Amino acid sequence: MKNKKIIIIGGGVIGLGIGWQLAKAGAAVTIHERGQVGRGASWAAGGMLGPIAEAHIDELDLLKLSNQSLARYPEWVDELESEAEMSIGYRAEGTLIIGIEPDDTYQLRHAYTLYQDLGLNVEWLSGQAAREIEGALSPYVTAAIRCETDHQVDNRLMVQALLHAYQLRGGMLHQHSSVERIVIENGTATGVQTADGFQGADVCILAAGCWSAQISGLPETMIPPVRPVKGQMLALQMREGIMISNVIRTVKARYPMPVYLVPRTDGRLVIGATTEELGFDTDLIVGGIYELLHGAFEAVPAIYKLPLIETWTGLRPGSSDNAPILGKTPIENLIYATGHYRNGILLTPITAYEISTLVRTGEVSEIIAPFHLDRF
Ligand SMILES: Cc1cc2nc3c(=O)[nH]c(=O)nc-3n(C[C@H](O)[C@H](O)[C@H](O)COP(=O)(O)OP(=O)(O)OC[C@H]3O[C@@H](n4cnc5c(N)ncnc54)[C@H](O)[C@@H]3O)c2cc1C
Repeated sequence: MKNKKIIIIGGGVIGLGIGWQLAKAGAAVTIHERGQVGRGASWAAGGMLGPIAEAHIDELDLLKLSNQSLARYPEWVDELESEAEMSIGYRAEGTLIIGIEPDDTYQLRHAYTLYQDLGLNVEWLSGQAAREIEGALSPYVTAAIRCETDHQVDNRLMVQALLHAYQLRGGMLHQHSSVERIVIENGTATGVQTADGFQGADVCILAAGCWSAQISGLPETMIPPVRPVKGQMLALQMREGIMISNVIRTVKARYPMPVYLVPRTDGRLVIGATTEELGFDTDLIVGGIYELLHGAFEAVPAIYKLPLIETWTGLRPGSSDNAPILGKTPIENLIYATGHYRNGILLTPITAYEISTLVRTGEVSEIIAPFHLDRF
């Protein structure tokens, strides 16, 4: 591994996480980041670590991957916080998925049955029981599912910690350095082309989030099927008397759309998110913010009195089946770690550990095998 030269394209949580693990193992790692590190989807995210709330009957491999990543979070947090000497705001209070109107209760019941069939750790609560856990919930909450193991992390702090830990381990970073092309010679990736010329590498890792399909040099069949999926978000500042400690998610049978409220340790309450197929558009729209506030107000009426402190948009890297694209490709020495869609923060530890193991040993673990590019 010593002196193996690795180039990572993209400095989000995925690129930084893999880079940190590889630099730690003694590789010579360079990250090329087109803009400022960690300011893509990794900055925009809600930070929920929610395999249960995100579970879908058609995505059982993804559920397994998500559960394994969550199981590795405590180890990841310990390792990262002690190297970076800072907290990343990991919180284990859990998640309440709530219904507000009678119609929502049917939807919630349906989800509960699915979670039970999948053997997930969930508890059914009456509206009253949910309010005993989270006093700020609306009196109209009809019922809730408690997911004690769906946790959260402060993704912005995680970006800072990863950057710090990566650089402490000797990782090199070129910001404002866009990779224009992946250079392939005789079926082998030999490096990348940037504005500063050709940069040679033993291994290239594509981790450019929703922009991963835009880099030239790849044969048509190998362009990763990744697209941007816009999410609008906002943050409020909690005040004494209106402090929430669980992640709260709504199901909505009707208007407005489902929302989530994620309380941070510093008192911010992050509320999200729209899901919009609008290409690379990142405009903040009144309708989106209105619906988020409407949905959050129905769940926790007391937010009416809180200051609105930030609004933003981000682009999720969605693949055609919503699961990440991980591992080897038909091109020698070219590895993909992209398409993490709604769960990239949750999937960062497993991606970083498994992709760094793959680069070090050449072995593909069972857990990432279902996520190869060749499934498309
Ligand atoms: C609104 C929203 C809410 C979300 N909420 C959650 C959540 O609660 N929980 C969860 O687990 N996940 C969540 N996600 C998803 C999660 O944020 C992403 O899956 C994850 O951040 C993807 O990380 P990444 O490093 O692949 O992408 P990014 O963070 O987007 O990083 C990719 C980087 O590549 C760089 N880049 C692009 N092209 C090039 C190039 N040619 N050369 C060099 N660099 C390049 C970009 O500038 C960018 O910095 C959310 C996402 C959004 C948008």
